[in-house]
Amino acid sequence: MAKKSYAADLVVVGGSATGVLAAICAARKNKKVILIEKESYLGGLAVGSLMGQLTGCGLNDRAMFGGAAKEIIDELFHNNGAKYYPMPARTKEGNIMLLRYNVESLGYLLEQKAVEAGVTVLYSCTVVSAEEDEGSCHVVARGLFDTLEIESSLIIDATGNASVAHLMGLETVTPDIDERMSVALIFKMGNVDCEKLDEFDWVSVRDSWHEEGILPSKFLAFAPCPNTNEAIINATYRANVDQESTEEVTQALMELRKQIHDIIPRFIKHVPGLEHSFLSATAPMLGVRDARRIKGQFCLTGEDIMKMEAYEDAVAPGCWPIDVHLPDGGNVWFETDKPYAIPYWTMVPQNGGRLLVTGRGIDTDESAFSAIRVIPTCMGLGEAAGEAAVLAISASKTFDQIDGKELHAVLRSKGVQV
Ligand SMILES: Cc1cc2nc3c(=O)[nH]c(=O)nc-3n(C[C@H](O)[C@H](O)[C@H](O)COP(=O)(O)OP(=O)(O)OC[C@H]3O[C@@H](n4cnc5c(N)ncnc54)[C@H](O)[C@@H]3O)c2cc1C
Repeated sequence: MAKKSYAADLVVVGGSATGVLAAICAARKNKKVILIEKESYLGGLAVGSLMGQLTGCGLNDRAMFGGAAKEIIDELFHNNGAKYYPMPARTKEGNIMLLRYNVESLGYLLEQKAVEAGVTVLYSCTVVSAEEDEGSCHVVARGLFDTLEIESSLIIDATGNASVAHLMGLETVTPDIDERMSVALIFKMGNVDCEKLDEFDWVSVRDSWHEEGILPSKFLAFAPCPNTNEAIINATYRANVDQESTEEVTQALMELRKQIHDIIPRFIKHVPGLEHSFLSATAPMLGVRDARRIKGQFCLTGEDIMKMEAYEDAVAPGCWPIDVHLPDGGNVWFETDKPYAIPYWTMVPQNGGRLLVTGRGIDTDESAFSAIRVIPTCMGLGEAAGEAAVLAISASKTFDQIDGKELHAVLRSKGVQV
C-alpha cells in the first residue's frame, strides 16, 4: 500500500456542507487546508442522503443565512437550484422557512467553492486515526490503495458523528439504542407532476395512512425539486439501529430498500402528482438522524433553546424546532418565537486543545440535538469552526485558548445573524 505525506495548517475531516464551510472560510484567509471525505462527493447527508430540503432556514419569511453560507445559498438560487418554501408553523402564527434544492447543484457548487478557495480536497479516504501532541496533530487516512499521513496544526471534526474526537480518545456520548431516533432511506421519483404534488396536503393524511398500512410509520415528507419534474420522498422508517455496527447498517439498508419498493405502487395509486412517476434514485447513504456527540466545555440543552438564551460567544443561529423522532414513530415538537443561539464552547471538547467539533457532533442534550442537527444550523457551525481555526492559527493558539467573544465579533462582521 502506497504511503503519502502531507502538511497543512488545518485538516477538516468530513466534507458535508458543514465541513466545506469550515474549510473554505479558513482557506480564504490564506490557511493551508486539507479536506478529507470518505465518499466521492461533497455535501454529506445533504447530497448523499438525497435530502432535497434544508429545514429551518429562517422564521416568518426572514432567512437566517449570513456570511459564506449566504453566498452559497444565493448562488444556488442563481443557478435555479433552490426555492424557498414557507412551512406553516404548527403551534404558532407564522412560518418556518424550508429551502428545497437540487441535490446535484448543491454537490457541484460545494466542490467548486472549495477548489476556488484553494482547499485540497481528498475523496474516497477515511480518517482512521488522529492524535495531537504539544505542537501539532497527526492524522492518518486510508484510501482503497494508499495511506495518507498528514501533519497539521489543528483538526476540525465535521464527521457528523464526532468520529475524530472518538478516535482521539476524547469523551463522547451516544444515546442508548432503544432511545435513538429512527433511520430512513430517502428516494427520488421522476416524471412527477410537481404542481399537483405541491397542492397535496400530505401532513393531513400521514396518521391515517400509517393506520391503513400505506406508510410504515407516521412520518412522511415530499420535496419537489426546484425546476425539475422530480420529487424527493422521505417515508421509510426503521428504529433501534446502531449506526456504528456494519451488520446493523447493512440490514437496515436492505429493509429500507424493500420498504421503498413496497411503498411506490401505493404512492402511485394514492398521491396526486405521482400517477405517472417512477423510482429514479435511492439515496446511496443511509439517513442516520442520531449521532455520537462530544462532551464539550458547554452542553446546550433543550431548555436553553426553549428559553432562547443569549450568549456573548454565540457563533451560529438555529430556528428549527425541537423535533425528536421517537423510536415508536411519535414526535416531540417545540417551536421557538425567534431564532436561538449556539455558543462556541459547545464545539470545544472537554480536554481537547487542537481539535474542534462542528456540525451535529457538538455537545447537546437529546432535545437540543434534535433542533440543531438540521443542515442550515450545521452550516453556520461549520463557518464558525473555520473562523475559529483562523483565529487560532494566526495567534499560534489552540481551540481552547481563543476568545469566543472575539469569534462572535468576527462572525457578526461577516453578516452571520448571531
Ligand atoms: C432521514 C433524515 C432526514 C433528514 N431531513 C432533514 C431535512 O429535511 N432538512 C435538514 O436540514 N436536515 C435533515 N436531516 C438532518 C441532517 O441531514 C443532518 O443532521 C446533517 O446533515 C448533519 O450534518 P453534518 O455536517 O454534521 O454531518 P453529515 O451530513 O453526516 O456529514 C458528515 C460527513 O463526514 C464524512 N465522514 C464521516 N466520517 C468520516 C471519516 N472518518 N473520514 C472521512 N470522512 C468522514 C461523511 O461521509 C459525510 O460526508 C435529516 C437527517 C436524516 C437522517
